[in-house]
Parts: sequence; structure tokens; C-alpha cells
Amino acid sequence: MPVSGLGAYDPDNVFARILRGEIPSRTVLDTEHALAFHDIAPHAPHHVLVIPKGAYVSWADFAARATDAEIAGFVRAVGQVAQQLGLEEAGYRLLSNMGAHAGQEVPHFHVHLFGGRPLGPMLT
Ligand code: 5GP
Repeated sequence: MPVSGLGAYDPDNVFARILRGEIPSRTVLDTEHALAFHDIAPHAPHHVLVIPKGAYVSWADFAARATDAEIAGFVRAVGQVAQQLGLEEAGYRLLSNMGAHAGQEVPHFHVHLFGGRPLGPMLT
């Protein structure tokens, strides 16, 4: 049962299609449990999306249904991306939109990673 209010997983959402190689993307990292690629409309010098390979609509869905191995693999992949891009010393920001009030556009769980310049205060 969906837990995020986003409805059932749509296997034709844009990130599912990227995972299947039907839509091109610029890959940063590809692991057993996660794929990271550059956002098509970047908001910072580095703006990368990290997604699990499994079919989860949102953070809540991922937290509720993913296996411990998938969760660990995903969290480690996010850290690896930051390391790979050389962002660890200067810092970076992680953000995940969940559901309508957060403006989640793509119904496949993802984390945005922003870096490469001072990012200013958090938006509300
Ligand atoms: P959301 O609002 O769901 O948190 O963010 C979705 C993100 O996906 C947006 O930042 C948007 O620019 C990005 N995006 C949408 N379609 C594509 C695409 O086809 N390729 C890539 N690389 N990013 C996309």
C-alpha cells in the first residue's frame, strides 16, 4: 500500500525510464542499489540526483518497504557521490521532496545533492 499519498508506483515515470536506459542521463555513480546522475536543470554547479534502483515512490515508501541492504546501499551511494565530486571538505546539501506540499515532481524516490558554491540559508 502506498504510504506517501502519491499513489501507486508508476513504472513509466521518468526516473524508471532512466533506470531502464530509455532516457539518456549523465551518470555519476552506478551501484547495485543506486544510480546517481546529473539533474537536467541544475540549481548549483553540482546538482546530482541519487535514486534507488527499486520501485519506491517516495522517502516514506522507501523507508517502509526497502530492505536494510537497499537502504544501506543507497545511503552509502549518496556519500560516495559527494566524495567522488570532491565536495566533502567544502560541504554540500541533501534534499528530498516528499509529496504534494514539498512539490515532488517525479514519483520515484530521490535525493538531490547540491554543491560547488555557498548555498545560502535553507528554504522553507
Ligand atoms: P523533484 O521536484 O521531484 O524533487 O525533482 C525532480 C528533479 O528531476 C528536478 O530537479 C528535475 O529537473 C529533474 N528531472 C526531471 N526530468 C529529468 C530528466 O529527464 N533527466 C534528468 N537528469 N533530470 C530530470
